[in-house]
Amino acid sequence: MPTTFATATHTGLVRKANEDSMFARAPVFAVADGMGGAQAGEVASGLAVQAFEWFVPQTSSPEEELTRLITRVNGNIHELAVADPERSGMGTTLTAAVVRGQSVTLAHVGDSRAYLYRDGSLTQLTEDHSLVGEMLRSGQITSAEAEEHPQRSIITRALGVDPEVEVDTTSLEWRPGDFFLLCSDGLYSMVSDESIAAILAGEGSLDSITKALVEAANSAGGRDNVSVIVFCPDGGADPGVAAASAPTKIIAAPGIEAIETDAGFVENGGPAEAAMFEEPGLFGRVHRFLSSLAGRVVLGILLAAILLGGGWLFTRQTYYLGVEGDHVVIYQGIPYDLGPWSLSGMYRNSIVMFSELEPFEQDRVRRQELQSKGDAEKMLDNYTVQARERRLEAERRAAEEEARTKTSSQNLTIPPGGLP
Ligand code: MG
Repeated sequence: MPTTFATATHTGLVRKANEDSMFARAPVFAVADGMGGAQAGEVASGLAVQAFEWFVPQTSSPEEELTRLITRVNGNIHELAVADPERSGMGTTLTAAVVRGQSVTLAHVGDSRAYLYRDGSLTQLTEDHSLVGEMLRSGQITSAEAEEHPQRSIITRALGVDPEVEVDTTSLEWRPGDFFLLCSDGLYSMVSDESIAAILAGEGSLDSITKALVEAANSAGGRDNVSVIVFCPDGGADPGVAAASAPTKIIAAPGIEAIETDAGFVENGGPAEAAMFEEPGLFGRVHRFLSSLAGRVVLGILLAAILLGGGWLFTRQTYYLGVEGDHVVIYQGIPYDLGPWSLSGMYRNSIVMFSELEPFEQDRVRRQELQSKGDAEKMLDNYTVQARERRLEAERRAAEEEARTKTSSQNLTIPPGGLP
């Protein structure tokens, strides 16, 4: 069975925006909790998790690969924070997990956490890089004091704050029945480990477990954004999913068949029709109305109105990356024309040239995938950082090359003993 997982996130009851970001595509999972004003936290956490989009562990050392990736992401976020005054000081936590064979590898910076729930007990797998976490480890305070400490939100390590970052990594063997939980501090600062364990022990699907965790944080006050990912490496450790989905399948499958069969029997007046439409309830009456010509006209008008109204709303809320001149830009709308009208307009320009993107990135831009504004902006931010990186690298090489040429030309033109 492949790894199964579920995610849930919520702004909470106090914060205005959700600055947490998550990435979950088995076997790679990541939770990031951003910080910094004016939506900069959202940008930082978004950049952090976006880096996992193309991450596939290649070698026998996922720990090294994760460290390399996170170190690079740290540099990118830092560079963007330095370059843009609006994003100055932004940063993010990052807790990532990769399942590979029998092992789970974790990489971690900041105070988001990874937990293992095994045989009825919950173990924290990461150390919080926070002031309170450090005081706790050095024995200055107790864990009860830590929970109430006024400075418990101060973190001592984050991505993007400094040009360099230290990444903690660890690997462990998973066992059948294990549940791994990645979460932002919005969960554990509101919900005790005992309550988290009780929810993980509960019946229900992984989806209902992640929702219950988020609800527990909100019921306790929801003072922070809360994000959770729960995954089971053996895929079978989710009796809840089986229990919840099995009856749905049993009910749904024959139901669909019955409706399909019924369509045939309407003409023939067979027993299935009798079974289906014995009682002309609301469904029956609506069905008859829609079958009539007048009903079809009304339905057509309604559908057209919904399509036009909804379509207009839809085009206002969708964004995609495209190319204007040779620049990669964000368009608002959808990449189609309706007669003489274009259904999109340029929303944001950038310094990124299409020609400097990697081939797979060019493919992505060419596909003009529809995205939310936030996702499109994150993608373009990422490309901007990479473009800057490449240009700096090219400048550095050019400077080196120039220095080398100068030296060699001097060597050529000045004969030993100097010029005459
Ligand atoms: Mg938080």
